[in-house]
Amino acid sequence: MDALNPLLDNTELPAFDRIRPEHVGPAVDTLLADAEAALERAVGPDVPADHDTLALLLDVPVERLRRAWAHVNHLQSVADSPALREAHAQALPRIVDFTTRLGADHRLYAKYKAIAASPAAERLSPAQRKALADTLRDFVLGGAELQGAARERHAAIQDRLAALGKTFGDRSLDATDAFQLVVPEERLAGVPADVVAAARSAAAAAGHASGCLLTLQIPCYLPLLQFAQDRALREQLFRAYNTRASDLGPAEFDNTGVMAEMLALRTEEAALLGHASYAELALVPKMARTPEEVLAFVRQLAARARPSAERELAELRQFAAAELGIADLQAWDRLFVAEKLKQARYAFSSQEVKQYFTEPTVLKGLFGLIETLFEVAIRPDTAPVWHETVRYFRVWRGDRPVAAFYLDPYARAGKQSGAWMDDSRSRWRRPEGGLQLPVAHLVCNYAAPVGAQPALLTHQDVVTLFHEFGHGLHHMLTQVDELSVAGISGVEGDAIELPSQFMENFCWEWEVLQRLTSHVDTGEPLPRALFERMRAARNFQKGLQLLRQCEYALFDMRVHTEPASAARAMAVCEEVNAEVQPERAPDFARYPCTFGHLFDGGYAAGYYGYAWAEVLSADAYGAFEEAGVFDAATGRRFREQILEVGGSRPALESFRAFRGREPRLDALLRHQGLA
Ligand code: ZN
Repeated sequence: MDALNPLLDNTELPAFDRIRPEHVGPAVDTLLADAEAALERAVGPDVPADHDTLALLLDVPVERLRRAWAHVNHLQSVADSPALREAHAQALPRIVDFTTRLGADHRLYAKYKAIAASPAAERLSPAQRKALADTLRDFVLGGAELQGAARERHAAIQDRLAALGKTFGDRSLDATDAFQLVVPEERLAGVPADVVAAARSAAAAAGHASGCLLTLQIPCYLPLLQFAQDRALREQLFRAYNTRASDLGPAEFDNTGVMAEMLALRTEEAALLGHASYAELALVPKMARTPEEVLAFVRQLAARARPSAERELAELRQFAAAELGIADLQAWDRLFVAEKLKQARYAFSSQEVKQYFTEPTVLKGLFGLIETLFEVAIRPDTAPVWHETVRYFRVWRGDRPVAAFYLDPYARAGKQSGAWMDDSRSRWRRPEGGLQLPVAHLVCNYAAPVGAQPALLTHQDVVTLFHEFGHGLHHMLTQVDELSVAGISGVEGDAIELPSQFMENFCWEWEVLQRLTSHVDTGEPLPRALFERMRAARNFQKGLQLLRQCEYALFDMRVHTEPASAARAMAVCEEVNAEVQPERAPDFARYPCTFGHLFDGGYAAGYYGYAWAEVLSADAYGAFEEAGVFDAATGRRFREQILEVGGSRPALESFRAFRGREPRLDALLRHQGLA
């Protein structure tokens, strides 16, 4: 069996056409056993604390396990089946368990510390030193330096936080699901027909003889708030949505106490590890240095966005009063009025735009841009794939291959929605010899071609495609030889979106769009007038949007910085609202109670990262605006100083090397029409 198991063959590209669910279990058995044995050998007394020895002994089998598992994960995302899901679910806890133990093994930590302390450490390359420092840092953050009672307490806090996070998520979900409202169809005037139809069949399915069933799920809630002319209905839904899982709803869903306990435990965890606050601890592996720096950043951004937000709000009030007969604009009117104002001002059909974005022209334009800016060539090639529509390309510099990628473009059954970049394997100067080149997965979900016509992309599809290629280029063009800091590995979490958001900017550039579009019938590029309307609509209400982001980020940073905040999270929420927004939120609003990013996700003291990376990417793109969007020298500098170095040095250093100075807010504000 083993000899035939394609998941165990790591010599060539994975045999995606031959991997079957029944291969998963046996492959994981073998690879996990190898990795476990390697770990035991590596921490033994007869193994010297030496970089190359440890890499050969431990990193090779661990990478082999991770790579095979990446293939399984990938197939589960793009070609799911009940059998594969089952095989994946059975293997997953074993993989997680091993990874957790590997990251907390004290014997291994001691070995790495010994390497760092040895005279040989002087001879490590800068990338190897960064990788070693990251490894030691992660052990410390995981509590590896703690002893005795402190270690036990730390572990207990981790367990309790995991359980509380799950409770928080469950209650948010249950509170959302618990709300159901059946209304006569007349009350849905203005709502799009497909939403009404879905609500009608939901009512029927729940056994109601007539009427429409409304819920707080986004596909129902959002269009109701945007389009329902019935103001009282909007208010009722808005209240229900904004009080979910709070003290204003059923006690069994109330997350107030869960939040308080989590905040207190995080403060305690930070103290155990020698930090003044949880935010300080969370920022250790980030680009931002201190909570104070983040607080100042968010406050500055909010102050700069405030005048535009005030103007936008005044516009909304005016339009509501003059055109819609709403004299006192309330929170539950905002989306409704904004939608009407947007239609009145920038009406254009996304269907019309779509006719210009034909897939072959879009890809030709995108590849051409990449080839010009980053001095590579992208050529179609062949490899085993998991679906007939998947394409494989190699990336060349001169006559030398540097990377490869799979492009899986279309939506289909059994494929997860959304778009993403994943690494299939990373660049690595392998310890046993040879240079492994990076391979990326670029996965999108736009509509497949119909008949003889090429696929047509919406402009948003194109932006998403560019975004994922930004991640892909970061992964593929790296010149770093050290596995854990090559490409996107080892890049700070608040800087990882730099190349991806950077690439999005090109989709709003007239010169680029000329090469990216050809009308499906006439072959004409995008007309200027249509482009101008698209650009104007892009910045609609950007000030208010940015303030909302700042509000969330400031709340997140304050509750994770101020030790006394555990017991008064809602008070902090109100203070932040008063500080940031030109208009106070209704006093029943309780968004923290369902703020999953902070309490059931990985964004605690990290929400600012969205805006942070946007500032970096906009400012980096500013260099291209100054020199010309196709400027070869700027492209080379971006490639060499940002893309090629990956995680081998701090992101701020890379940014400075590219831009010649510290990051500035101006470009972001200019792009969003807020400057
Ligand atoms: Zn991204």
